[in-house]
Amino acid sequence: MSDLEFDGLTAVVTGGASGIGLATAQLLTARGARVACLDLNPQDVPEPMVRAHVDVADEESVRAGVTWAAELLGGVDILVNNAGIGAQGGIEDNPDHEWRQVLEVNVLGVVRTTRAVLPYLRRSAAPAIVNTCSVAATAGLPDRVLYSASKGAVLAMTRAMAADLVADGIRVTCVNPGTVATPWVDRLLGRADDPADERAALRARQPLGRLVTPDEVAAAIAYLASPLAGATTGTDLAVDGGMDGLRLRPP
Ligand code: NAD
Repeated sequence: MSDLEFDGLTAVVTGGASGIGLATAQLLTARGARVACLDLNPQDVPEPMVRAHVDVADEESVRAGVTWAAELLGGVDILVNNAGIGAQGGIEDNPDHEWRQVLEVNVLGVVRTTRAVLPYLRRSAAPAIVNTCSVAATAGLPDRVLYSASKGAVLAMTRAMAADLVADGIRVTCVNPGTVATPWVDRLLGRADDPADERAALRARQPLGRLVTPDEVAAAIAYLASPLAGATTGTDLAVDGGMDGLRLRPP
């Protein structure tokens, strides 16, 4: 295969109704895949993608959504573990219930969805898992201890799962996005005292001088999920405008 092609392949994308997940689902679809988006708010997922209401923090919901998607699509070749929630704060700022809530979604959500999809991946001829991690897993970002811990776990799980699943021919990788222009960032800016000021500060932190686009992250996920990346497993790909690699920090 010489191009980014998914003809005959099927994909499940969690958090596929918005931002990075939606852009990924749309790109995979445009390149020939049949895609199911599992999301807490799936109503805006356009056809021909199929959609289901799934809460990755709920085991039964994940199991039901994955079974439904696999039956409808006729199996699962690609899993994109993308659903996630944010959290701001230093080590003293987040009470235990916030830690539990974020780890339930960002870490256990990946665990549950992967467990539910694995039996289908084991029957696939081109199985791949791509996790949406974050630059927070690799760079010491200020005011992000809980979120960084959750994404650090996703990065470590990516490598450990890749080691376990290599014998089954299942590749496991992750992308580490930087600051991506999605509704997530809009919500963050909406909570700021001065959103215009905060947006300018965000941009100033970017070595490239602009935010990353959801399509740029989707392209990286699609590449890692594709047979083009057949020799790549147990590793991460930064799509962060240079935030981590250039070792630049907010002034
Ligand atoms: P987004 O808010 O636009 O989309 C997230 C989607 O996940 C939403 O559709 C939401 O309904 C869904 N979701 C949230 N909790 C869920 C749950 N419990 N079960 C099922 N679905 C759930 O955000 P985004 O920016 O596209 O973020 C997607 C992923 O990218 C997240 O894992 C996030 O941590 C990661 N990320 C985002 C950025 C960024 O700057 N936007 C940077 C690094 C990493």
